[in-house]
Amino acid sequence: TIGKLFEQTVSKFPNKEAIVDCSRNIRFTFEQWNEEVNKLANALLSLGVRKGDRISTYLFNSYELGTVYFAAAKIGAIINPINFRLKAEEVSYILLDAAPKVVLFEQALEESVTKIHKRFPSISFIHIDESVPSYASSFQNIIKNSPSNHPDIFVEENDTYAIMYTSGTTGRPKGVMHRHRDMIEQSLICINALSITSKDVGLVTAPMFHCAELHCSFLPRVHAGATNVIIHHFDAKRVLKTIEAEGVTMLFAAPTMWNMLLQEDIGQYKLSSLEVGLYGAAPMAPALVKACKQSLGIELVQAYGMTEMGPAIAFLDRDEQLSKAGSAGRACFNHEIRIVKPSEEGPSDPDNILPVGEVGEIIVKGPCMMIGYFNKEEETEKAMYKGWYHSGDLGYLDEDGYLFVADRVDDMIISGGENVYPREVEDALYEHEGILDVAVLGEPDELWGERVIAVMVKKNETVTAEQLDQFLKSSNKLAPYKRPKRYVFVSELPRNASGKIQKFLLRKSLSQNKV
Ligand code: AMP
Ligand code: MG
Repeated sequence: TIGKLFEQTVSKFPNKEAIVDCSRNIRFTFEQWNEEVNKLANALLSLGVRKGDRISTYLFNSYELGTVYFAAAKIGAIINPINFRLKAEEVSYILLDAAPKVVLFEQALEESVTKIHKRFPSISFIHIDESVPSYASSFQNIIKNSPSNHPDIFVEENDTYAIMYTSGTTGRPKGVMHRHRDMIEQSLICINALSITSKDVGLVTAPMFHCAELHCSFLPRVHAGATNVIIHHFDAKRVLKTIEAEGVTMLFAAPTMWNMLLQEDIGQYKLSSLEVGLYGAAPMAPALVKACKQSLGIELVQAYGMTEMGPAIAFLDRDEQLSKAGSAGRACFNHEIRIVKPSEEGPSDPDNILPVGEVGEIIVKGPCMMIGYFNKEEETEKAMYKGWYHSGDLGYLDEDGYLFVADRVDDMIISGGENVYPREVEDALYEHEGILDVAVLGEPDELWGERVIAVMVKKNETVTAEQLDQFLKSSNKLAPYKRPKRYVFVSELPRNASGKIQKFLLRKSLSQNKV
């Protein structure tokens, strides 16, 4: 179980620095942290939390989030980290669905909680900052006199451990349920892919409520006895300063974050401690991967996956970044990836396997697969049809078994009967040095059904649509029907907290002539 995993690290590395929270001035060794974890676990028990109960967090990155993660594990409670970007009504939806006993929140998010707390009289709200509203208790207060012994609760590897609500680029968020053992398998996979050891110092800057940070970085580092240095939320300058100050050796960042780091004056900082960077959660253009390697002088590893699978299902290793540029890598240990013919109606048939090189739906099987969606049997059955998780992503496998993710099934453009995968066009545009950010999508066209358009953020003011068109023509990378028929310049692209472009929002704005 995750609780035992934590205890084992504590007994192996009692005096090693375990957790640093930069904005709260907290530094604990594993032994000190374990005491805090136990105090919180016992405090939760005395608040009436029992095995199987949910504990929600509505927090930015913090020491408290990391602590409740292990405290919950020790008493068999289920952790439910909520996206800090969500507003009152969205949080309310999740609280109704997950029905937690306790919600931990912070000052920065108090406005939303104040709006909805009355609807949930049976929930204990716990505030992690100093000024505490009347309807909540303070984190410090509840743990102050709590015993620091290990709570004696019997927890098993098959017990549910986490309910993570998916980012939901469409529709209502769904609560993805995972067991203790799923997370431990995932942790081992990530330790192996990133060669994490107790000597590592990892930076936590991507949102901890999302599995890419929590399960692929934070947890594996605790597992390996490494240090986690937490910053409240991503801020490019703060990231660079912290790498220098804390001797950070590794970090995970979504592609937009890497892009933002590159816009800084990198020469100003001493980043020589940095060894490896993990990227993933959204497609990253090969041009950007190359720029990161050059400017930051680090090795990069890519992870591809989805909350439902734990999340990572494929890695592209350090030495494959050039030879297999643009690939999502090969299946993780014990994972199977298939490309099947997408079905027009209902889930794709797992046995309708497509030949090498052909684009179809990516389906997958593996040891970290979710139990299902909380309270959503029908959707679970569809997503896990015949034992395969249906990702809704399109992609293909090459002759060496490397996966290439093309796009979301819903984002593919069909122009004049030809399929256009936006990502291919986006990658080609990223090669132009005047482009900071780009989203390619389809818009209705009377003649062609759909036409390709590119919505972009410029790096400097000088780039024009004509220049970009000329650039694509002369680079000879795209067939004419894939070249955008229209270029739109905006100041920012809508992205969710895990860094995915929200194309549905862009489509809406475009159809209302708002961009
Ligand atoms: P989530 O629901 O937040 O776990 O997001 C899962 C989705 O993110 C996948 O189905 C993909 O569409 C996308 N994704 C995750 N990692 C990658 C990656 N390395 N490359 C491309 N897309 C990715
Ligand atoms: Mg998803």
